[in-house]
Amino acid sequence: MIIRNPCISNIKAGYLFPEIAKRRREFAAAHPEAEIISLGVGNTTEPILPHIDRGLTEGARKLGTAEGYSGYSDEGLLSLRERISEVFYKKQFAPEEIFISDGAKCDIGRLQLLFGSGTPAAVQDPSYPVYVDGSVLIGAAGPWNGTGYQGITYLPCTAENDYFPDLTRLPSQGLIYFCSPNNPTGAVADREQLTALVKAALAAGSLIIFDAAYSEYIRDPQLPKSIFEIDGARACAVEVNSFSKPAGFTGVRLGWTVVPKELRYAGGESVNADWARVCGTIFNGASNISQAGGLAALEPEGLREIRELSDFYLGNAKLIRTALRKLGISCVGGDNSPYIWAKFPGRDSWEVFAEILEQCWVVTTPGSGFGPAGQSFIRFSAFGHRSDVETACKRLEKLQP
Ligand code: PLP
Repeated sequence: MIIRNPCISNIKAGYLFPEIAKRRREFAAAHPEAEIISLGVGNTTEPILPHIDRGLTEGARKLGTAEGYSGYSDEGLLSLRERISEVFYKKQFAPEEIFISDGAKCDIGRLQLLFGSGTPAAVQDPSYPVYVDGSVLIGAAGPWNGTGYQGITYLPCTAENDYFPDLTRLPSQGLIYFCSPNNPTGAVADREQLTALVKAALAAGSLIIFDAAYSEYIRDPQLPKSIFEIDGARACAVEVNSFSKPAGFTGVRLGWTVVPKELRYAGGESVNADWARVCGTIFNGASNISQAGGLAALEPEGLREIRELSDFYLGNAKLIRTALRKLGISCVGGDNSPYIWAKFPGRDSWEVFAEILEQCWVVTTPGSGFGPAGQSFIRFSAFGHRSDVETACKRLEKLQP
């Protein structure tokens, strides 16, 4: 029979979220009376709001007309790329620097193809699993050495360093995955911190893959929403972003990646040209229906709806944070992000996960699933119906911190 890609064998266990789903299923099977509520995965729960929904349905309807029909749209509708540049980047990018995608996660996976298996990578620890697992899949990292994957520099982000990593440990000529607002800690890097990050990346000849999937949850006007608010970033960063969390497009699928034209490899070649080549080779563009929805989301009424929806989830986050703090559980996040990062000192994350599931019938995410520094933490997600969040908060009172 055919031989398995050895990189796949290097992945330690199942992807975090399927593993959580499996444990939930097992618990539900053993306790059919349990009305389980999920504050676990970052999946959106609320309906798409009317203006954006009309954009989607109109986009679908037009496909059934001779005048409105469209086929492949490769790197994305010009009007959408222009509007993204206007809304998020003060028009500092030409449409050729913005690539429309089917989501940030998919683009992160494809971006890894640009650098292949020889490039060292650094991640915030804890971090969103695709940075590390994707690096293992492409052979840039692995195998597991007991505490982490070979080839990955884990940069602990803890209360002691204000959830911002020690930049002296960045790899030279490597990739730096940086997510702000961060999943899972909810921490948001401020302007000084991002300025230091850009400086350090330039000095190390490294490239930042900046994940801004939660930027629309930032409420503090002092906090940067994009790495491109920082001088020098155009020479050392790409940014991925998404309509998933602000507009509820987790199932619709729409995102984008910004690759500045001046970004170069060590040999002087254009990263932008290579990205166009990779996308043209293994990706055929985002759905034109999603893009119609995306255009509606970036009209003034759509932007108002994005604010309304993200405000709703931030309201959930506040309820969860307040409930945890009332119990004396120390936690951060939830003010400029939909995640709350709660500490259970000296405890194993999976053990706390099991305890919350068994005692409260609430599914969470064990912090250790996001990296070694996540041990003893639990991530609570604010994506849920309000009544479920209220019930979950009441049930959490059963916990003994
Ligand atoms: N980036 C981060 C940090 C995320 O937490 C998620 C989803 O949870 C994604 C990207 C995925 O975004 P998309 O739905 O656009 O693939």
